[in-house]
Amino acid sequence: MSVTVRSTAGGGAGGYSVAVLPGDGIGVEVTAAAIAVAEAAAARHGLAVRYRTLPAGASHYRETGDALPDATFEQARQADAILFGAMGLPDVRGPNGTEIAPQVDLRMRMRLSVGLRPARLLPGVPSPLRDPRAERIDFVLVRELTEGLFAELDRPKVTDDDARDVLLVTRPVTERLTEAAIALARHRATARGAAPVVAIADKSNALPSFAFMRRVFLETCARQPDVATRCHYIDAMALDLVRRPWDFDVIVVENLCGDILSDLAAGLIGGLGFAPSAEIGPANALFQPCHGSAPDIAGRDIANPAAAILSAAMLFDYLAERHGDDHAAAVAGTIRTAVDRAFGEGRVRPADLGGHDGTRRVASVIADLCRAGS
Ligand code: ATP
Repeated sequence: MSVTVRSTAGGGAGGYSVAVLPGDGIGVEVTAAAIAVAEAAAARHGLAVRYRTLPAGASHYRETGDALPDATFEQARQADAILFGAMGLPDVRGPNGTEIAPQVDLRMRMRLSVGLRPARLLPGVPSPLRDPRAERIDFVLVRELTEGLFAELDRPKVTDDDARDVLLVTRPVTERLTEAAIALARHRATARGAAPVVAIADKSNALPSFAFMRRVFLETCARQPDVATRCHYIDAMALDLVRRPWDFDVIVVENLCGDILSDLAAGLIGGLGFAPSAEIGPANALFQPCHGSAPDIAGRDIANPAAAILSAAMLFDYLAERHGDDHAAAVAGTIRTAVDRAFGEGRVRPADLGGHDGTRRVASVIADLCRAGS
C-alpha cells in the first residue's frame, strides 16, 4: 500500500482524501496516468489532495482469496471520493464460475445508484458518424446502477428447466436518479443559456416495471416546473443515438439498458478510451473509466488514459459541488481543457486512434498542459 501526500494549500483542513483502487489490467496504468494529471492540475490551483492506494480486484483475489478486503472498503468509505481503475480478469473466477467483480459489491454496499456517463466528442477525435453535426455530440446517460435487471445478481434463480432474473424499480431510487438528472440538466443548461430538458428512455409500453419508472420520473419532474421532459422508448433511443445523437442532453435510463447504451455512446465518441463515468451515492462517490481491465492490451503502455483522466475531472466536479469549493471546480476545468487541447491540437495520438503515443506519454503531455495553465 502506498500513500502520497501533496502539501499544497486548499481543500479544507488537511486537504481532500482520495481512495485509489487501481484494480487489474489497464486499470493500474490508466489510474496512474489520471493521478499524474490530477496532481499537476491540483498543484496549479493550490488544492491539497491525499491519494491512498488500496488493494482490491481479481489479482488480489488470486493472491489472497479476498477481492475486496474489509480494510479497503472501510478506507474507501471514509475518503472524500474514490478513484477506481478496472477490476476483473477472465481467468480469475469465484466458486460459482463467474468473474470476480468487487465493483458491483462496492456499488451495492455504498448505494452508488446514480451513474453519470458523459458522451462528448473531443476536438480532434474522429466519430464513426460522417455527419458534420457529430462534432456537437455532448450528452450524459444517467444510468441507475443498483437495481433494474441487475438487482438480484447475487441471488441467481436457475433450475434445470429455467432461469429468471428480477427487474426491480423502486420509488426512492428512481426519485434520486431523476433529481440528479434534473440538477445536471440545470447546470448544463445554465452553461449554455438554454432551458433544462431531461429525457427518459425505457420500455414502458411493454413492461410494468418500466411504466412505473416512467411514472415516478414524470412525477418527480413535475415538482420542478422549469424542467421540460421528453419520453422515449429504449429501442427508438438506440436508433436515434446513432441517427441524431447531437439532439440529446440528459437521458435517464435503467441499469441494463444503460449498460448497453453507454457502450453505444462510447462508440460514437471514439471508443471506450474516451468514456468517463461517475457513480454517486448518498455519502460516497466513485469515479472510473467505462472500460474494463482490457487484458488484451494490459502491461504494454498502450491503453488510452483519456477516460480515466476525464473521470478524475468528474471527481473534482463532485468535490466542488459537495464542498462549494471553487478551487476544485478550477482543477476539473483545467483537466478538461488540457485534455481537449492535447487531442484538439494533435499533440497526442494513442493506439486506439491509430497512433503511437503510450499511456504514460499521453498523461505527461496532458499534465504539462495543466501545469502550463490550460
Ligand atoms: P468489462 O466487461 O469489464 O467492462 P469488457 O469485456 O467490456 O470489460 P474492456 O476491458 O473494456 O472489455 O475492453 C474492450 C475492448 O476495448 C478491448 O479490446 C480493449 O483492448 C479495448 N479497450 C478498453 N479500454 C481501452 C483503453 N483505455 N484504451 C484502448 N483500448 C481499450
